[in-house]
Order: sequence, then structure tokens, then C-alpha cells
Amino acid sequence: MQLKSFFGSPKPEFRYELLSTAFPEPMAVALPETVTLLIPEQPGTAPCQAIKAGAKVKTGQKLSWDANGGPSIVSSVTGTIQSHTPYTGDYGKKFAAIGIATEKADQWDESFQSLTGEPTVQTLIDHFSGAPGGADFSKLTDPGKPIKTIVVYGGDTDLLVETNLFVLKSRISAVMNGVKILKSATGIDEIFAVAPSEAFQNYDGHFEANVKGVPVDYPACQPLMIYYQLFGKMLEQGQSFEDTGVFFIRAEAVGAIGQAFSQGRVPVEKILTILDKSQRKHLVSARIGTPIGGILKMLNISLNDRDRIIFGGPMTGRAVYSEQQPVQFDTDAILVQDANDIILNSDYPCINCGECIRTCPTRVPVNMLIRFLEAGEYQDGADLYDLYSCVECGLCSYVCTARIPILQYIKLAKFELARMTLAEEKND
Ligand code: SF4
Ligand code: SF4
Repeated sequence: MQLKSFFGSPKPEFRYELLSTAFPEPMAVALPETVTLLIPEQPGTAPCQAIKAGAKVKTGQKLSWDANGGPSIVSSVTGTIQSHTPYTGDYGKKFAAIGIATEKADQWDESFQSLTGEPTVQTLIDHFSGAPGGADFSKLTDPGKPIKTIVVYGGDTDLLVETNLFVLKSRISAVMNGVKILKSATGIDEIFAVAPSEAFQNYDGHFEANVKGVPVDYPACQPLMIYYQLFGKMLEQGQSFEDTGVFFIRAEAVGAIGQAFSQGRVPVEKILTILDKSQRKHLVSARIGTPIGGILKMLNISLNDRDRIIFGGPMTGRAVYSEQQPVQFDTDAILVQDANDIILNSDYPCINCGECIRTCPTRVPVNMLIRFLEAGEYQDGADLYDLYSCVECGLCSYVCTARIPILQYIKLAKFELARMTLAEEKND
């Protein structure tokens, strides 16, 4: 529920990266000895023959847990499957982590090539759900939630990160081609291309899409903010973009589609922004599944006890606990913090200083909301204190005097409420 108008919001203090000058090509990370790919597991079923330990795989080969269907990814390397182990992602999402010992020379699986003549949604589901940028294309086929509008967003969703905007600006013809393919595969004509206005001028008329600029102030490029700016409303409780007929996809994913359909091979390299301990930025390109330790080694970034590795940017990223953590199709940035620079969260109570309210771009009464969320009173937080106006920018956590992990509480509350709504729908 949205209780307050956005008009009169305070001027945000942070700006996105705009890449207004040169586009240095990303540094290539060497092929690692093993990669780890995450496949959504299907409970109660055994893995199919193609992904059993000892099976050979080719670069670009479609891999899925169940030979009869279900979610799939594309192998980023040629090699031999060594293992699959259970892997729990954010909010308990279950995956199988497939370890593949790599061979130095790629042998490409050419089966995708025969599909490039006639783009279909099924081809997008089978070959691009785990491609760089990724998206859950199965959402395009739900008869209960017909999609009428596709939004391609070209900005990055956190500060200091420049991955998605780099792809949009440096691979613009691939992105334009990807938009054409999306149109052809889905039959959807209403497509918006959205990015920070100062970085996205003069593209009107070149895209088969409505080109829209959004402010360069953080967090205008968060998908929830873009949704508000395009449609003038926020999502209601338990609603997803797809519930309202809108499908969001990153420019990087659209660029991967455009490149694949023109070259006959699905890209397997992920571009990432690496922020080292001195906050220097490095743009790198690595095979999906590369352990992050290899990337940090290449950049001479050493890790000591209690240093922190964060997947994502400074506002919305999450800490990971191992250098073996693999780069995935949606890993945009890795931030490395020196132990001495880490500001730890606390369990102090809110002191009502009001900093969070002053900085919140959507004027959520965060000081009141957090009291309910800390107590697990999620529904009251939504009904009384505007939980669903939150666009998950993390600014409140960043400024909180009491160092309360507010964003994490908010995400957990939305997750729990969505789960409850789904359970109620199933019971009905
Ligand atoms: S994360 Fe915090 S600052 Fe950002 S919109 Fe949500 S409540 Fe407001
Ligand atoms: S910034 Fe933190 S301590 Fe201050 S009012 Fe907001 S939640 Fe409370």
C-alpha cells in the first residue's frame, strides 16, 4: 500500500556512475580449473544423466536437473561434471551446485544455432535464464498473468557499480538487436528502454522501444522506482511486476540475446565491477561460475582475517563467506572491504533521530516501521507504516545512527508477506 505522495521528496544526495568518457574493455579473467554453476533443484527427483558426475559437457550446452523439462542453464565451459551439492541461496531458495572441471579449449555445443531463425519464448527460457544478466523468462508464459509491457533497464541498481550501463553503452547494437528479438519472440509491442538520462541521450528513434531517461540521482534506477516513474503507482502487497502485466529485464540480458542471435552462440562471460579496498574500480569479464578468489588474485587484492566480500554494491549488497563463491549470471559487482573499514550492524534500538526519514526517497516512516518489523509484525508494518512504498535502496540503513540493518528487515518482511499471500491463494 502506498500511503504518501512522492511529491516533495527531499533531493537525494548520491548519483549513479555515468560512464560519460571512455569505455575501457573489461580485463579478461583466465579460465579457472573448475567452475560452479547453480541449477534450480527439483525436489524429490534425481539429476538427469547429462549432469551426473563424469558426464562431459560442452560450452553453450543446455543443462537442466530434469531431462523432461524444468529450469535450465547453459554451461559456460567445456569439461567434465565432478559433483553436485545442495546449495541454499537467499531466503532459502534451493539449488544444486554443479562443479565442472574445465578443459582449456572450448568445444561449442551448436544446438542453439539452429534456433536462431525463429525466436520463441521457449528458446529464451531454455537458453537465456542463466545467460549474462539473466531473467526468468518462464514468467512470459503464465496464462494467469499475461505480460503486456516489457521494461529494459540500462542503469545499475547500486552506487559505484557500472556493469549494466557499460553493456548498454558499449554494446548498444547488441541491445537494439535483443529488443527486436524480444518483440518477435513474445509478440509484445510495448517495450520501454530506461536508463539515467545524462548517460542515455540521442537514442530516440534508434531503438524499437520507447526510450525514457530517469534522473541520475540514486535510487531512480531501482526497478521499483522505474516502475513508479513509468506507471505512476507502486506495487500493492504481495504483487510482483508480472501481476501487473509488466516484465523487467536488464539491458545486459537483452544484449546477450541480441549477440547470441547474431552470432549463433549464447555468451558465457559475465562482466563485473570490482571495488577494491581502496574503492578503486576494475571492470572484468569472467566465465560464469568462476570462483571469486581467482578474480581477486588477478587484481592483486589480498584478503586478511575479518575482511569482507560483498556481492553487489555498497547500498544493497550482501556479504559472502568464501573465496570459492562463484560468479553467477546476475553478479554485477564485488566489493572488498578491509576489516578496519567495516561498520558493523548493532542490536541497539532506534533512537528516533529521524535520519532515515530525511533520506528516504519515498518518505517511508522508517523509524516506526522498523519497530514493527523487529517484532515480526509484518502485516501491521505494511498496513500502518507504508512497507510497500519502500524501493529497497538501502539509504536508510546507510545513514542509521543505531546501525540497524533496516533494508534486511524490510526485504525479509516483504518475502514473508509474499509467502503468506501465496499460501492463502493456494488454500483458496
Ligand atoms: S530502503 Fe529505506 S530509504 Fe530506501 S526506500 Fe526503503 S525505507 Fe526508504
Ligand atoms: S536512522 Fe536509525 S536510529 Fe535514527 S530514527 Fe531511523 S531507524 Fe531510528
